[in-house]
Amino acid sequence: MNPLPRNPAPAPDFAELYGRAPEGEWAAPGRVNLIGEHTDYNLGFVLPIALPQTVRVEAARRDDGLLRVWSAQGRGPVAELRVADLVPGSVPDWTAYPAGVVWALREAGHEVGGADLRLDSDVPSGAGLSSSAALECAVATAYADLHGLGLAASDLALLAQRAENAFVGVPCGIMDQMASMCCRPGAALFLDSRDLSTRQVPVDLAGAGLALLVLDTRVKHDLGDGAYAALRAGCERAAELLGLPALRSLQPVGLAAALAGLPAELAPLVRHVVTENARVEAAVAHLDAGRLAALGPILTAGHASLRDDFRISCPETDLAVDAAVAAGALGARMTGGGFGGSVIALVDAAEAERIAAEVTAAFRSAGYAEPRTLTAVPAEGARRLR
Ligand code: ADP
Ligand code: MG
Repeated sequence: MNPLPRNPAPAPDFAELYGRAPEGEWAAPGRVNLIGEHTDYNLGFVLPIALPQTVRVEAARRDDGLLRVWSAQGRGPVAELRVADLVPGSVPDWTAYPAGVVWALREAGHEVGGADLRLDSDVPSGAGLSSSAALECAVATAYADLHGLGLAASDLALLAQRAENAFVGVPCGIMDQMASMCCRPGAALFLDSRDLSTRQVPVDLAGAGLALLVLDTRVKHDLGDGAYAALRAGCERAAELLGLPALRSLQPVGLAAALAGLPAELAPLVRHVVTENARVEAAVAHLDAGRLAALGPILTAGHASLRDDFRISCPETDLAVDAAVAAGALGARMTGGGFGGSVIALVDAAEAERIAAEVTAAFRSAGYAEPRTLTAVPAEGARRLR
């Protein structure tokens, strides 16, 4: 998203936009995934934490069938859509995310109508930190509350994913929406994407003297859009050739035999997914045993797998990982869908500032724009604020 103007005029509040007060305000967080990349749509394991950064939505119902939306990050005029006219492909811009949620709710049989929505966010957009799921989950939670739908968090995550898959047209897995809906403060969400069962795994970074840096490289290579769908199709094709319902069903012990029978272009995809699921399970075992530092090598091995087998890294994310590890990080990896976005680095808390500065210096030397640095603290999932 374009940077905001240097001295932006104060943003209009809900009353200035819509001439009345909102009925409430809801928030849903962005996320970083500790480990388990491109495993969700293969029905495997993921281990995300929610970020303190959220998308917030103030909302009030309307009874005339209109959905009106405004975002402090877009700063355009109020967009107005007719709920009854919403069909996939009908909404070309960012308003497809909130409109898609309303569409998905109605498709699922919930008799919800229009609303006035005012969005604001501090989740960097397009940075691999899942601003899109945060936006969907904030709107889904607001609608569910306002209409008393009584839906479980995982049902809302599925509806938000359906909005992104079918209405926006992005074939993402379920991790981002489950993370935004279900994460808890101080914990990572161990999610089994096959049955959506979850376990909160305590992650006390500060207690272990550690910190998790998020280095947003600020690059997003266009290649990403079509490539994601192609990778997903490749994984599904491999599972079919192996006679499995999904790659999740392949255990490490059967990997070598499976790889031998696969076309050369599919074998590395399978190797990534199988080894990545094993890395999630290993990471959870270390967390359960209070061995947080042992996550470091798992992160770095995960990055090598994304770079060499899944081939979705890029020079900027490789540099951020290499520079962080060279500067003394315990481990680092790209997080998110790939082709840019953010890198996470597990570091000694006392070294965090120096390591971030060394990554920044490496970017400067390479002629890249400076990364934006955040510190991730496992935060709360979607909730009502007032
Ligand atoms: P990510 O989810 O990693 O941030 P995506 O490309 O999936 O990246 O989603 C980014 C898109 O989500 C933006 O291009 C925009 O359409 C929408 N979006 C995210 N945050 C906001 C916001 N605060 N206001 C309006 N649209 C937003
Ligand atoms: Mg997204």
